Amino acid sequence: MAEKRYLLAEMTWPEVKKALETVEVAVIPVGANEQHGPHLATSCDAVRAYEFSKLLAERMFPKVLVTPPVNFGISYHHLCFPGTISLHPQTLISIIKDIVKSLKTYGIKKFFILNSHGGNDTTLDVACTIIEQEVEGVKVGFVKYTSLAKESIQKHVKSPDYGHSCEREVSEILYLKPEIFKPDALAKGDLKTHPCRHTSANRGPIGLPYEFNLRTGNGCLGDATKASREIGKEICDEALEKLAEFLDDFIRLEM
Ligand SMILES: [Zn+2]
Repeated sequence: MAEKRYLLAEMTWPEVKKALETVEVAVIPVGANEQHGPHLATSCDAVRAYEFSKLLAERMFPKVLVTPPVNFGISYHHLCFPGTISLHPQTLISIIKDIVKSLKTYGIKKFFILNSHGGNDTTLDVACTIIEQEVEGVKVGFVKYTSLAKESIQKHVKSPDYGHSCEREVSEILYLKPEIFKPDALAKGDLKTHPCRHTSANRGPIGLPYEFNLRTGNGCLGDATKASREIGKEICDEALEKLAEFLDDFIRLEM
């Protein structure tokens, strides 16, 4: 391995065996496969979760091992646009539980779910509780990593309704994996005034399941024309900094 990082998908078993001498936490990237408007490929969230986890693996080497990503998530609300695939919440919980049980075989006790997709948050919260109850001797945490980059987002994102294929997300892709961005199709969100704009998905306190085409006609929020690689780097750097601080504490946590 050229880079100093532990990515399970690229390692042989003898390499894994050696890595286990120092690895303290397995990071499980969880994304989604869902529509991201006209200018981002459907893999966007899966790609962000994995690419960000790679940066984390470098930063936390040799204490963190990153598993292959879970490339699907809870995306029922995007099925109204072609190409979206959604898991049932129980399926996602089962997949993560199986990953945890498998890696526990080799002595890993601490797990951290690196989520990139807001639609997964409630399920992952439940997943952590279920897995800790049903798999003995493990600790499981999770975060939607962009929630850790509040300062950079506040500084750069001015659209009132953002959070999907917007200036924040396109900026991240320009930094993490520009190959999945289609500049010729770049568009602002075609926003609607459906009551769902008051819900938790838009940082409001109200819960109301809805389909995404009621919120935006083209599948995007915000104004992606304001995106840049520099903004993306700033967001990822801030999230990385805060997450590394947490993981240091998590590693020290006695079990
Ligand atoms: Zn996304």
